[in-house]
Amino acid sequence: MLEVLRRIVQEVNGARSLDAALATMVLRIRKAMKTDVCSVYLLAPETDRFVLKDTIGLRSSSVGQVSMARGEGLVGMVALREEPLNLEDAPAHPQFRYFEETGEERFSSFLGVPIIHQRRVLGVLVIQQHEKRRFDEGEEAFLVTLGAQLAGVLAHALATGALGKLAGTSGQATFKGVAGSPGVVIGKAFVLSPPADLDSVPDLIPTDIDFEIARLKEAINAVREEIRVAAERLASRISTQEHALFEVYQQMLGDAALGQEVEKRIREGQWAPAALADIVRRHVQYLERVDDDYLRERAADIRDLGRRVLAHLQEEGDSGPIEYPENTILIGHEISPATLGEVPRERLKGLVAVSGSSTSHVAILARAMGIPTVLGMVDLPLSRLGGAPVILDGHRGRLVVRPEHELSVHYSRLIAEEQALSVLLEQEQDLPSVTPDGHVMPLMVNTGLALDAVASLKTRVGGVGLYRTEVPFMMNDRFPSEQEQARLYREQLAGFAPLPVTMRTLDIGGDKDLPYFPIKEANPFLGWRGIRVTLDHPEVLMVQLRAMLRAAEGLDNLRIMLPMVSGIEEVDAALALVNRALIELAEDGVNVSRPSVGVMIEVPAALYQLEALATRVDFFSVGSNDLTQYLLAVDRNNPRVASLYDACHPAVLRALARLAEESKALGMPVSVCGELAGDPAGALLLLGMGFDGLSMNAPSLPRVRAAIRRVSLAAAQGLVSEVLCQPTANQVHGLLLERMQAWELAHLLPPRDHTPRSRQRSGPPASPQATGWRHWPPPGARRP
Ligand code: PEP
Ligand code: MG
Repeated sequence: MLEVLRRIVQEVNGARSLDAALATMVLRIRKAMKTDVCSVYLLAPETDRFVLKDTIGLRSSSVGQVSMARGEGLVGMVALREEPLNLEDAPAHPQFRYFEETGEERFSSFLGVPIIHQRRVLGVLVIQQHEKRRFDEGEEAFLVTLGAQLAGVLAHALATGALGKLAGTSGQATFKGVAGSPGVVIGKAFVLSPPADLDSVPDLIPTDIDFEIARLKEAINAVREEIRVAAERLASRISTQEHALFEVYQQMLGDAALGQEVEKRIREGQWAPAALADIVRRHVQYLERVDDDYLRERAADIRDLGRRVLAHLQEEGDSGPIEYPENTILIGHEISPATLGEVPRERLKGLVAVSGSSTSHVAILARAMGIPTVLGMVDLPLSRLGGAPVILDGHRGRLVVRPEHELSVHYSRLIAEEQALSVLLEQEQDLPSVTPDGHVMPLMVNTGLALDAVASLKTRVGGVGLYRTEVPFMMNDRFPSEQEQARLYREQLAGFAPLPVTMRTLDIGGDKDLPYFPIKEANPFLGWRGIRVTLDHPEVLMVQLRAMLRAAEGLDNLRIMLPMVSGIEEVDAALALVNRALIELAEDGVNVSRPSVGVMIEVPAALYQLEALATRVDFFSVGSNDLTQYLLAVDRNNPRVASLYDACHPAVLRALARLAEESKALGMPVSVCGELAGDPAGALLLLGMGFDGLSMNAPSLPRVRAAIRRVSLAAAQGLVSEVLCQPTANQVHGLLLERMQAWELAHLLPPRDHTPRSRQRSGPPASPQATGWRHWPPPGARRP
């Protein structure tokens, strides 16, 4: 049964369009379950009705004609209850609705299961039979399993299908992901093809057909040569039968086979990589369906050959410099920090990736660079986006493809307003971060990239609250040497001197991989991470500590911070290494005073060891990103659970409030360097809780400063008391929004959803203009 299930899902997955996916679905399910009817109903969001989209067994003329509201008829009942309905005599059920056009009265038994994706009912899958019988437990369980497995595939096909229908027209399609870096941009999609992935080749129209055919032939010849060499090399080690397989490969790649078909596609108007991918996929799908083991094996061979040819095509494409369009919105399965560096900065306007989440490394870098980013777009049809006009909304995690005019106008206005707000905020960026009642809240900056703009912030910040040293390590192809590191660190320390620069020791593991030091684990966030790695490799940590100390010579503005601390032994071991590094350097004649050493509070265990930690270190800094992840047991990179990841969850806020209080009692300075500090409402909460400093990405500084300069410490403390009484994260956000509106600070928050005027239900969209910020009072005009 498992094999049948796997095959059905695979086939549906391989369908070229939504219609093909639905047709495959009903056909295969009816066959597998040996029933008279299999039908699929899908929710039409505009009418909120479940429409019969495909059937085998009912009259095909009823497709698209029959629909039911939630709760109406048996199908509507399955959708409403979100559970299977198994009936022996369906027409006798009081909910049964008869549709003459289906010819349904002939069938007695009925089994319907909902298709649910991310808690939303997408549709209902139904099987029916003439015979009056109840489907057995096994059949019901099988259909439920299929419904659950097909939900994701269908969600993707729905998204792709919607786009397919609209391709080339002025229609739009919207995709949702996880907000990675704020800001709104309008630009052009540039899809990165991962090496040799047949499923993510962008569809492009060739400018020179002869050139495409020539490079296809070259790529095929290169693969034929590779295979010939491989066959020769293996000749003495494999059987004649196995050797014959290489002959089959040569034939498959021969002019009369694959090459000819792909060439035909190119002539029809596809560029070589996409033409190849299409043809290979078609053959693979066909062979996988055949009930013959030998032929099914050949499907894998064709896929492999296809990948090899594609790799050559892409290699060739890569040999020249890639031309990125103006306003590039870079879209890919995954975007690595290195890829980020490949696009000229002035052309790169936004980033979108299928994988990743708001706190994954690329998002952190994007925020530092001020590039709007959306990650975790699991349903994105990459191959159909190349060159399309898009709007990227980094606040809400949306990508709108081929936007309609009204929406473009709305977003253009939003962009203009954001720019105007930036100009306005810029005017107070040299003013101190002090509340109207005179409380100074030092703002610091998070760094990691060698960005000039960051050093130019020197006059506006109290120092660097977090220098992520792993970033330069990630950009390298080996561990940087002590001299190389010292040079980099010196730049940071000198750039900000005499302000303090907090350098975190190498924090790799989790989602931060070094290409030359891969860590493969089942649970990387619970595994070998941060201080655990560096204490196991004292040679790496010692080099880094010596480089930091050496770089601080004569400046003495270095602070060292230890990541991922979960136990006191780790701190003692690290401190011993700091002392050893100081002694070694002194022996070399380099005299540096002992820097302050602090720990990151980001593992919940640290929260319960504050006293012991306080006797050993000089400061605490809260990594709210990891603290949230570990307190809520929510992987910060998993798009499936991204909606559960929330630093404003009552548990996290209570932990933070208590931490601030206890640190104060211990006389320990405590600041926050996670993303919560860069959120204006979050910053006000942290101010009210009593934190001593906030460190954030440079682009977040203006809004946070503006918020702090307009809300008194007393008001922020009042806000904290109210927030801590809220039982859910949603209620916390609701209250924060309410207060921010009352304080006329709502425009500092990300804009909310846009609804076209004709469909607006209540009130205008909360754009900055709508909240009246253009007449925004300067600090002091209102003193909440
Ligand atoms: C954090 O965890 O909040 C933090 C600042 O560190 P990183 O995001 O680099 O893990
Ligand atoms: Mg962390």
